[in-house]
Amino acid sequence: MTEHRERLERSRLKISLTLMHRTTILLFITTVVLFACSAGQPPSKFSSSEAMNEHSVSNPYCSRTDTTKLDLPDSVWKKVLSPEVYEVARKAGTERAFTGKLWDFEGIGTYYCAACGNALFRSDAKFASTCGWPSFFETVRPASVEYRADMAFGMSRTEVLCGRCGAHLGHVFDDGSPPTGKRFCMNSIVLDFEPDTAAGQ
Ligand code: FE
Repeated sequence: MTEHRERLERSRLKISLTLMHRTTILLFITTVVLFACSAGQPPSKFSSSEAMNEHSVSNPYCSRTDTTKLDLPDSVWKKVLSPEVYEVARKAGTERAFTGKLWDFEGIGTYYCAACGNALFRSDAKFASTCGWPSFFETVRPASVEYRADMAFGMSRTEVLCGRCGAHLGHVFDDGSPPTGKRFCMNSIVLDFEPDTAAGQ
């Protein structure tokens, strides 16, 4: 009788240990799977549809519909723009030719200011230019941009600024494409491209 009881106890103990072992393995597998999934995902801050608009994701001043002028201090822009966009938009930097994401891009859609969301150019005003920067022959609206004389570097040029937020976008020249003959020579980094939807085409 005692021997039978001991066998029973040993059997119970064996079952308990097996169950514990299986639970531990299951927990381990779950942890590994969860970690692998999170490591393989892009940062949750950006959805795939925002891939081309990543510079304005955490910017509360960015709007595709509000055309009210923005007059914000430099300290605010420094907080809401990425360092790359800030350098061009607020410090009049210039990206190197043939290095930007849009100089030879041919998507159909609209180009917006990467600092404030203001509509700047349509893709049908973009033309193939050999200069190495995205080039357009006209803006979406006359008020999309503003102009300022730029005498820097011993040159006489016309600077192009966003009509809503004053961001530096690039320069405009008279060696462009018909029908205007203008060449709005822009920095890719300060442009956000939004493709037309199937319904809107
Ligand atoms: Fe802007």
